[in-house]
Amino acid sequence: MIISVASGKGGTGKTLVATSLALSLSDNHKVQLLDCDVEEPNAHIFLHSTLNESQAVFLPIPNVDETKCTYCGKCAEVCAYNAIAVVQKKVLVFPELCHGCGACSYLCPESAISEEGKQIGVVEQSNLGNIDFIQGELAIGEIAAPFVIREVKEHINPASIVIIDVSPGTSCPVVEAVRGSDFCLLVTEPTPFGLNDLSLALEVVRKLGITCGVVINRAGVGDEKVDSYCHEQGIPILLKIPLDREIATLYSKGIPLVQGMPEWRSAFQRLFQDIEQIVSVKVTK
Ligand code: SF4
Ligand code: SF4
Repeated sequence: MIISVASGKGGTGKTLVATSLALSLSDNHKVQLLDCDVEEPNAHIFLHSTLNESQAVFLPIPNVDETKCTYCGKCAEVCAYNAIAVVQKKVLVFPELCHGCGACSYLCPESAISEEGKQIGVVEQSNLGNIDFIQGELAIGEIAAPFVIREVKEHINPASIVIIDVSPGTSCPVVEAVRGSDFCLLVTEPTPFGLNDLSLALEVVRKLGITCGVVINRAGVGDEKVDSYCHEQGIPILLKIPLDREIATLYSKGIPLVQGMPEWRSAFQRLFQDIEQIVSVKVTK
């Protein structure tokens, strides 16, 4: 079972939900927690884990052999990111724009393009009892976040419950992280901003054909419009975490909710049972 935890905007408590779910389930299950928020991974702060295994991530950048090149311009034509250009008798590569998709080398009619690796990030791992923790981190100034996310997801072990902490928003890294999940938890807050970003995130998840449910964090801070919206859209609200000074204090100290307030463990275990049930109904349909 792969559960991704996403939110249309930052600061909604997505990592709080992902880490609390992982810790609660680790009482009885093998869990993998994947931090795919590669531009700002922070789940390790809550897990207090020492990352002890590190592996570099290399992006394949084109390298043109101009002795074979006929300057036909095909590579520049197929590059969606303007990362390669042919100017008269010269092929220019802009590594900082390249997404390593390989289209130029695949389509070069002269086989003039080889690829060389450029380090753009790392994948790090640690183990905490029943939790295998894996995080990706994109190097500063790099843009190919989906590539690092793919490397993190290479570590998925289908025998475990896999929880993916997704970056906020609705862009390519979100799509890459959520793709292939059995279920997506959308974390939001009951405010106009929360509602707007929830609707955008829901659109993405629906386009990917992934079943989803909602967690409302800081319940009580705003109005009932998120509840009404979920009802209209037929999306279940699976958990509400209230606006509470003690919860906020734990969060600010980097203490997972279910460690600071163990009474929340059962709520997260029930959340998982509800997800299991929704997914099994979908499978049998
Ligand atoms: S596609 Fe190949 S042959 Fe054509 S310009 Fe690019 S590198 Fe040269
Ligand atoms: S690998 Fe892809 S992104 Fe990079 S230059 Fe070639 S076509 Fe463009």
